Amino acid sequence: MIKFQGVHKWFKALHVLNGIDLHVQKGEVLVVCGPSGSGKSTLIRTINRLEPIDQGTLIVDGMDLSHKKTDLNKLRAEVGFVFQQFNLYPHLSVIRNITLAPTKIRKTPTKEAEEQAMALLERVGLAIKRDAYPTELSGGQQQRVAIARALAMKPKIMLFDEPTSALDPEMIGEVLAVMQGLAGTGMTMVVVTHEMGFAREVADRIVFMDHGQILEEAKPEEFFKNPQHDRAKQFLKQLL
Ligand code: ADP
Ligand code: MG
Repeated sequence: MIKFQGVHKWFKALHVLNGIDLHVQKGEVLVVCGPSGSGKSTLIRTINRLEPIDQGTLIVDGMDLSHKKTDLNKLRAEVGFVFQQFNLYPHLSVIRNITLAPTKIRKTPTKEAEEQAMALLERVGLAIKRDAYPTELSGGQQQRVAIARALAMKPKIMLFDEPTSALDPEMIGEVLAVMQGLAGTGMTMVVVTHEMGFAREVADRIVFMDHGQILEEAKPEEFFKNPQHDRAKQFLKQLL
């Protein structure tokens, strides 16, 4: 589904992605962790081309993102993105937030889009909030709507960049539970998170990044039991 080969990126003099080689299979859940500033967000943002790469090859569902001509609409319809900040449209109700892209971009008829939106709201446990506005929701509820909104485009890949980092502790679990449910449906997912409980339970593989490189790539049980690099050991110790 996703294939990085020798990918490099610079922000001026800063070598932010330094030779990334990474494959993600269909249906796989990959967790990306590492210290702040190590390049996790930049890495995940290249997958839907919020950040272009400077060198190497990046293929996402058969689309070659190394080419300037990539069809961004097609790419972004196939790759859903959930950010740390929920970014819901504040002037639109919950259901309008979800139906906007399908009706405008996919040209789904309104009634059909609303039915699909309601099914998604059921799935994230928020059907009763269909007519609420984002400011009337808790952070955890807003993030669950943001996940439903991304799913409304029927993506093949879902990217999550620290989706629970802005939440009060008591709301983290409800968002992780929705993500775990999604993983159970066979969705291909790349998740940047420091929630190591989630990583342990849900991830098929964990990569540890530092200074723009992938230092470690392992199954969760190996990573937690026996991290290879000192930086990874240090990182895990800090989380405890
Ligand atoms: P992480 O998500 O692991 O904290 P980021 O990918 O956000 O790391 O950032 C990696 C490095 O790139 C950091 O040093 C950050 O300051 C820098 N950086 C991120 N985005 C930009 C940008 N748009 N312009 C310049 N530097 C950036
Ligand atoms: Mg980040």
